[in-house]
Amino acid sequence: MMKLNNTDQLVLVINSGSSSIKYTVFSFPNESNVLHGEISDIGSIHSYHRIYLNCVDTEPMLIERDKEVFKTHDQGFHSILDTLSRFDETIDDLEISVIAHRIVHGGDEFISPTVITDSVLKQLDELLHLAPLHNPNNILGVKICHDAFPSIPQVAVFDTAFHQTLPDYAYRYAIPQSWYEDYKIRRYGFHGSSHQYVATQAAQLLGRPLADLNLISLHLGNGASACAIKQGKSIDTSMGFTPMEGLIMGSRSGDIDASIPLYIQEISELTDEQLEHILNEQSGLQALAGSNDMAELLEREKKGDDAAKLAVAAYVYRIRKYIGSYLVALGHVDAIIFTAGVGENSAEIRLRCCQDLELFGIKINSDLNVKQNKLISDVSSAIKIMVIHTNEELQIALEARQKIMKDVS
Ligand code: ADP
Repeated sequence: MMKLNNTDQLVLVINSGSSSIKYTVFSFPNESNVLHGEISDIGSIHSYHRIYLNCVDTEPMLIERDKEVFKTHDQGFHSILDTLSRFDETIDDLEISVIAHRIVHGGDEFISPTVITDSVLKQLDELLHLAPLHNPNNILGVKICHDAFPSIPQVAVFDTAFHQTLPDYAYRYAIPQSWYEDYKIRRYGFHGSSHQYVATQAAQLLGRPLADLNLISLHLGNGASACAIKQGKSIDTSMGFTPMEGLIMGSRSGDIDASIPLYIQEISELTDEQLEHILNEQSGLQALAGSNDMAELLEREKKGDDAAKLAVAAYVYRIRKYIGSYLVALGHVDAIIFTAGVGENSAEIRLRCCQDLELFGIKINSDLNVKQNKLISDVSSAIKIMVIHTNEELQIALEARQKIMKDVS
């Protein structure tokens, strides 16, 4: 049933987030997705493990829905190992040759994909304080796979790596020098694999080398970030020291005056953890309109819901401010890219982000936009506008494979 050749190479990508673990097995060289699974809502009674076996050239097929409750990531990983061993039996002769792990925060030490060794694991452990909400579950996945598959090379691919090309005046905050030197406080930026993937796809679509292109990439998912890409390299991005900065997100505040949490702490009984939770999980669209689902907010807005109207307006206004600043940062822009849940699916949000910007060379074509074309700008638009489906997992697999091939050659 699975049309794989015995010369194909399989790469397993593990993306272990705060309440979910996603994993995908890609087959190379044709870059097809042969197995994908997700354990979501870990720790809640709604947790489940969905497994899709993607036969090459056919639609994904849900082959299992495990009703077991996954209380911890550790339990989740063991269910995944079990799935992988069953998967292994169905594809005799073919074995996973590389395991790639998405690691959210690479600090300033990890600027490119890195083969995981005992000393790298130790360094990753030391980085935990920079990303206490994200890295622990990433690293747990690395350790479990390291133990379970000691003979398979494993590569860490960092969300921050694509932004290592930011100039110092873009990554430094105007705060005491010692905070930067002693505590490594600077802009790191995230969603790197996504911005890099869609930029590469945009270059293909335009038929030009990425190194010649200036792009503004808008990753609008539950988490959201903008990235200014100059000659193929990231020169600025909206997320900062942590993923909290920048655009208004599903449940994160994005940019706020740094004195707000200080003031709230002074006048309330909130602990550090509660404040962090509120800014990460109960802010953004969730705070303004009680939901992080943009499709729902647009529906409510149509029915005259004022909170939804405000939330959508604030969301779009923040994106437009970043488009404006990146137009100036880049000087010349070839294309604006919309990607991720909202960017790929909401013609309405794309339209509002691009409206009345003809003076800046941005003109969206309403018909193409609604038809979900890849290219949605008007022929008269100096700046192309694109909708590109992101594939962070494939980008991670490509980079990990390239790293291993480079090391071998
Ligand atoms: P994550 O950051 O969790 O990977 P996604 O990229 O999947 O998130 O984006 C999820 C968000 O996309 C949802 O919260 C929802 O707001 C938005 N979304 C999905 N489909 C639509 C749609 N048709 N219209 C508007 N928003 C949508």
